[in-house]
Amino acid sequence: MAVPAVMPTYARADVAFERGEGAYLYDRDGGRFLDFAAGIAVNVLGHCHPHLVEILRAQAGKLWHTSNLYRIPEQERLAERLVANSFADTVFFANSGAEAVECGLKMVRRHFDEAGEPGRYRVICCEGAFHGRTLAAIAAGGQEKHLAGFDPVVEGFDQVAFGNLDETRAAITPETAAILVEPVQGEGGIKPASAEYLKGLRQTADEFGLLLFFDEVQCGMGRTGKLFAHEWAGVAPDVMALAKGLGGGFPIGACLATGKAAAALTTGSHGSTFGGNPLAMSVANGVLDVILSDGFLGRVNAVARYLRRRLEALVKAQPKVLLEVRGAGLMVGIVCVVDNRGLVARLLDEGLLSVAAGGNVVRLMPPLIIEERHVDEALEILDRCCRQLAAEAAEKTG
Ligand SMILES: *Cc1c(COP(=O)(O)O)cnc(C)c1O
Repeated sequence: MAVPAVMPTYARADVAFERGEGAYLYDRDGGRFLDFAAGIAVNVLGHCHPHLVEILRAQAGKLWHTSNLYRIPEQERLAERLVANSFADTVFFANSGAEAVECGLKMVRRHFDEAGEPGRYRVICCEGAFHGRTLAAIAAGGQEKHLAGFDPVVEGFDQVAFGNLDETRAAITPETAAILVEPVQGEGGIKPASAEYLKGLRQTADEFGLLLFFDEVQCGMGRTGKLFAHEWAGVAPDVMALAKGLGGGFPIGACLATGKAAAALTTGSHGSTFGGNPLAMSVANGVLDVILSDGFLGRVNAVARYLRRRLEALVKAQPKVLLEVRGAGLMVGIVCVVDNRGLVARLLDEGLLSVAAGGNVVRLMPPLIIEERHVDEALEILDRCCRQLAAEAAEKTG
């Protein structure tokens, strides 16, 4: 059977980019694209940010990989900075979001095992969630389309409605160990959790002695205008997964936790060959240099408000094409009336990159370095595509 050399697990758009600069990507034919996908919320500083390029070049000439058998000063530095800027006391480094989630899930199980409650291992998760593609992560996500054909499903995950505190509380049994939630659901359609819901989850976790585990792989690292999305609600988890934006394009994942939650992950209990290597750590430290610099997140919030205002006006003007805007900061979802994938394809044709999400949503997740002029350019393309689609729909209905 003829199979492409690259396993066809993705339905790819027929475009290949050759280079990038800031918020723009360029293909081989000289085509220029405004990148409001950012590699699915990864390129937080855009493409080839001078500070990251300089750091990567310098590190590439010094040292790439050593192994966690030895001390890695850049890893210690990144961990200390993440700890200083979060609820966490300690960090484990991995290479992807799924691995960061996996570390947190293993931590949860071992935490209760060490506490003499090995039967307490179940994790309450949300409908519409996405936590990655490993066997445990697809079980946590609970989506039929990701689980199909991969039986037996990893044991121990219960799904409840996202945002529904009563349902969450009703699902707790003596076997429940943790609650795992994305503070802003990404793949599920850019759905922000309310502050009351997150506060309620914290109270519930405390009341029943559960660990609260936030998956900020997509919504973390400044995406919502704070370093971590849960900060808006004024509550802290016990465990948190990070990845995507943390490396600005370099593959990395991290599991952050309180000392209490992580105490059971003792020497030899978990590991990663590549996780936390000098090259990845240098780049991630460079990303933090910029995100934590004075005024950076303030500018993210300002441009996010501008984008939101412009999009709301567009939705009002295009009721036959668009239904609603939602999200937080520069993690924006446009709920469509027309087919979302059709709009994403049309935007690509016109030079704007976006990403489809669940619930017929078009996701806009630009690099955090964008300015109002980038928003203006994106809105011009969005407006043009919506007009085209509205005209086509009118023609069809005659
Ligand atoms: C992307 C994503 C993951 C998985 O990350 P990978 O790096 O693809 O393994 C996990 N959780 C959330 C919320 C994500 O958006």
